[in-house]
Amino acid sequence: MQLVVAGAGPAYSARPGAVGAAYVLLEAGHAIVLDLGHGAYAGLAQVVEPSTLDAVLVSHLHPDHFVDLVPLRHYLRYEFRPPRRVRVVAPAGIERRLDDLHAQPGFTAEALDVEDLAEGHLVIGPFSIEARRITHTADSHAFRVVPVTRPDGPGLVYSGDCGRAFDLAPLIRPGDALLVEATFGTGPVPVGDMHLDAPSVAELATATEAGRLLITHVLGTHDLDGVAAAARSGYAGDVRIVEPGDRIDL
Ligand SMILES: [Zn+2]
Repeated sequence: MQLVVAGAGPAYSARPGAVGAAYVLLEAGHAIVLDLGHGAYAGLAQVVEPSTLDAVLVSHLHPDHFVDLVPLRHYLRYEFRPPRRVRVVAPAGIERRLDDLHAQPGFTAEALDVEDLAEGHLVIGPFSIEARRITHTADSHAFRVVPVTRPDGPGLVYSGDCGRAFDLAPLIRPGDALLVEATFGTGPVPVGDMHLDAPSVAELATATEAGRLLITHVLGTHDLDGVAAAARSGYAGDVRIVEPGDRIDL
């Protein structure tokens, strides 16, 4: 299984190329994407022909994690006769939000097959996916993805946005790659803010015996070298801050 980063930015950033979250997973000629945030559609389309996606999985309904479903919908709707369709698994309500954004009932359904995301397991193509509810919005999930043919992993555990690092622990098996947000960089996380920092994700990676730590979603005000150093001081394994275009074999 290969991870290709199409977007790794936070909710806002002046850092060039810091578009919203979008992480493509490739396996056996199939592709899914975890989140599709602002500006990430172009990066996605560089990795995979978007109409061939097996599914888009959305962790939670903050726009930096889903709003580029709009260009995906337009592409499917206007580039093909008849329109092609892509499956979207997302927290309940996303269809109405996208329709409202466009002030057009039925906007989403013209090209996207939306189904509600729930805790538990699902299989999409060659991917086995476990979703688990975590602390962030009232309906936020993290994912563990592993090839169906290799259920013991290593898998990829993706945090989405997360307010408590150890919410992710039940998803993680030793050796898994952790793709984890560290919005507040070297920390600390302001009291009441539902995000993580590098020290907390490093503590999680050590405690769960993760195989590697892939840090993402860092606010643009933080020095990335300093963030990586903060993570390495708490975790002895491989640490990398991911950027769009990164291709990582898992
Ligand atoms: Zn969020």
